Amino acid sequence: MNFREVIYPIKFSTKVASLFLIAFGLTIGLSGYRSVRGLESHLLDELKESLHIQARAFTAALPADAFSSPQAGVQALAQKTGQAGGNRITLIRRDGKVLADSQVRWEDIPRLENHQSRPEIVDAYLKGMGTDTRHSHTVGSDLLYIAVPVPASGPARGAVRMAMSTTRVQNKVKEFTGIVLFSSALALGLAGLLTAVLARWVTRPLMAVTAAAKAVSEGDLAQKVRVDSGDEFGLLAQSFNEMTEKLAQSLSALRSEKEGISRILGSMVETVAALDASGRLLYVNPAGEMIFGVTSADSAGKFFSEVIRQATLASMIQEVLEKNDEVRQEIRLFLPEESIFDAQALPIRSHGHLKGVLLVLHDITRIHQLEEVRRDFVANVSHELRTPLTSIQGYAETLLSGALSDEKHARDFLTTIQDQAERLSRLVNDLLDLSSIESGKNPPKISSFSLRELAAEVAESLSPQDRKHKVRFENNIPAGLPDLNADRDQMKQVLINLADNGIKFNREKGTVTLEAKLKGNEFEISVKDTGVGIPEADLTRVFERFYRVDKGRSRDEGGTGLGLAIVKHIVEAHGGSVRVESAPNEGSKFIIGLPGRRP
Ligand code: ADP
Repeated sequence: MNFREVIYPIKFSTKVASLFLIAFGLTIGLSGYRSVRGLESHLLDELKESLHIQARAFTAALPADAFSSPQAGVQALAQKTGQAGGNRITLIRRDGKVLADSQVRWEDIPRLENHQSRPEIVDAYLKGMGTDTRHSHTVGSDLLYIAVPVPASGPARGAVRMAMSTTRVQNKVKEFTGIVLFSSALALGLAGLLTAVLARWVTRPLMAVTAAAKAVSEGDLAQKVRVDSGDEFGLLAQSFNEMTEKLAQSLSALRSEKEGISRILGSMVETVAALDASGRLLYVNPAGEMIFGVTSADSAGKFFSEVIRQATLASMIQEVLEKNDEVRQEIRLFLPEESIFDAQALPIRSHGHLKGVLLVLHDITRIHQLEEVRRDFVANVSHELRTPLTSIQGYAETLLSGALSDEKHARDFLTTIQDQAERLSRLVNDLLDLSSIESGKNPPKISSFSLRELAAEVAESLSPQDRKHKVRFENNIPAGLPDLNADRDQMKQVLINLADNGIKFNREKGTVTLEAKLKGNEFEISVKDTGVGIPEADLTRVFERFYRVDKGRSRDEGGTGLGLAIVKHIVEAHGGSVRVESAPNEGSKFIIGLPGRRP
């Protein structure tokens, strides 16, 4: 474990406090040490000074020949002076021989070793004064030696050495060291206490900011830190509060923007899917969820081709990712019925770089169906028009190329031309009627009238044809039936068309019966015949334009194939509906439901 790893988990307050205490401890330790050392050297200097003075005083008291040879008088003086000063006095000749020593017996003096090379003696001759401190086994403590040459100037005859134990000095130093150590420990303890309190106090705002930042990181943006100082921590707290406020504002703006976008995407009928640059789904709108049978949440992050098994779409997306360009194509999906979509895959770019793909599917099934209907209609109309036109053209040409002179044939030809022209005119009229109703520009002109009377009028207008087929027309509408509110002319056309069909597709001597009743607020009008009937497969289609079950018979009867389409459109324009019940060779019954009751 290295130093970084050791200090990493330590709390900031502890680190600061420890650093401070170490610095403080070092400072007072050093200054304590210096004072102790200072005191020691001061005491030693004083001791030296006093010994120096005593040495000089002792020198002054010496007889002039004191350095010639050992003298008992000098030894006695040394002993006396030494005792009085509490120190040891040694008299040493210039050659190193000891002449007297206050702490050595007179008879032992000659046996003392030569003192010539003692450091303090060497220094005394060299510098005018020599000092040394040595441990003395005899005394059992350190001794301070100080030696002065005699005389003080000029050639020295010898030296006087004073020695004194430093025990007193050492004791004083020890005592002082004790005081210094005690007060240092006390100061350090107090400083420690104070630092701990201070560190807590200083780091408290930091802890508050830390706690708030943690809460914010967990999503609680309402967190505020109390600002109760103007120092750096106060500024930090204030900045933190401003930051969270701005963050909350931006987040809520983002959220509402996102909601807006998701509402728009959600209400779109178009399918919208967003993918990232690697082809993974980011989002599918509700319309897309329906079509693809997935949920945006479940499919997010998965590859498009994994989740949505539509090879064409997958390859379109691939193409956009490869070419960084829009791809548009018409595709057919079976959902399960076949639907046709205008599919667009667009690159999502940011600063020119491809970031993903946006897939938009527009359902054009209905447009396709309408186009198909329109195409069929145009083809049908052209076909219907061509037949009588070809016939007219043929007969006219025959007449012009000579048949005109053959009166009998010419009359037949002209009759046919007239029939075909009438047929053309019927066709054009029916087409005009149909388009006028369909356009919705001429809404029904509602009036109140009796259905029974209208049916009688219809019977009247049909009677010549009626006779031709020997079909009986029965008006069974009850006399007491309330009046119908509808467009009278249009309702007449409805009844004529239905009755006309009932006669056309009837058998000899058959009947067409018109009935009506009130069912709640709705009129139910039916036209029933005893004719050929309609096969089940054609029942839903007979209301389509130009749809005929038996084309030959319809044409022979002068039908345009538009009669039922006109009926259906008129009834629907009145808010009603029409249906047919039929069985082949048993007859058909067309039933109209109309909300025609006066409120
Ligand atoms: P058309 O001019 O051919 O009568 P309609 O639109 O009136 O055209 O009718 C469409 C087709 O529906 C007819 O060609 C016929 O095949 C069938 N149809 C209509 N009414 C009857 C009916 N009463 N009985 C049998 N078939 C009918």
